[in-house]
Amino acid sequence: MNNYRVLLYYKYVDINNAEEFAQEHLAFCKGLGLKGRILIAAEGINGTCSGTVEQTDKYMEMMKADPRFSDMVYKIDEAYGHAFKKLHVRYRPELVTLRLEDDIDPREQTGNYLSPEEFYEKMQSEDTLIIDARNDYEFDLGHFEGAIKPDIRSFKELPDWIKQNREIMEDKKILTYCTGGVRCEKFSGWLKEEGFEDVSQLHGGIITYGKDPKVKGQKWNGQCYVFDERISVPINQVEHVVVGRDHFDGEPCERYVNCANPECNKQILCSEENEHFYMRGCCDECRTHPRNRYIKEHGLSEEEVARREEHIEASRAAKA
Ligand SMILES: [Zn+2]
Repeated sequence: MNNYRVLLYYKYVDINNAEEFAQEHLAFCKGLGLKGRILIAAEGINGTCSGTVEQTDKYMEMMKADPRFSDMVYKIDEAYGHAFKKLHVRYRPELVTLRLEDDIDPREQTGNYLSPEEFYEKMQSEDTLIIDARNDYEFDLGHFEGAIKPDIRSFKELPDWIKQNREIMEDKKILTYCTGGVRCEKFSGWLKEEGFEDVSQLHGGIITYGKDPKVKGQKWNGQCYVFDERISVPINQVEHVVVGRDHFDGEPCERYVNCANPECNKQILCSEENEHFYMRGCCDECRTHPRNRYIKEHGLSEEEVARREEHIEASRAAKA
């Protein structure tokens, strides 16, 4: 029974006393029984949450009654249960962490909004450059055909990356995209501020693109990384091209795990087999870390760990 839903939404709008509003909003969401992660800033709201159809309906209804959020757009996914373990509603100084010296207000400066159909058309023309505005591990699981992957670990590194790679963007029309659209609102605005003239963004993000009945997610390869327990959702309804690669052996893979070293926690793509073989450590240091969670979870004895280490060594020697 799909009687649950996951909502994804944002709105850039002035929120007075945003810290206080965050507390009220937390109580409100708690009262409804929602779970998820909602960020509140003076510049607006950015949220994703899960609940039953009834709970999420009520949430959207109540938000609609507030003039600040009356026209907020929700991306709605059906689900089999909650997609989060807890509820967090947090105040933040910015909705997305770009840490610009001169912050961008997307209501004043942002890229042209493209519908999924327009984006699909435009991405295929030769003078277009598609820039993925997400983190590297999100790109690795899936992205638009021909999109450029900025070599960054987090969103706030993106402006510097653009400055260092300006030449690839000269005389190009720029398209940007992200999961739900909230990051591109600022990023595309910043690109215009930087002097790029033809900048457009995918309105509603990848999630909206995947739901468009005409485009059907075409030209998207792989899966779309999402920030909840589902980890990924399908986008392309016509064909499924796997672009993810196993961290250990490079084989096609779409299975994410967190590195077993609690101090690392890095998300890596890896098969079940490799997870066991490498005791879920992303590197030698993490695997042999004294607090490796995999070893604890599986109750491995010291002898067993030593035996597995030997296997790893032997397989490396065989490959060398
Ligand atoms: Zn690690």
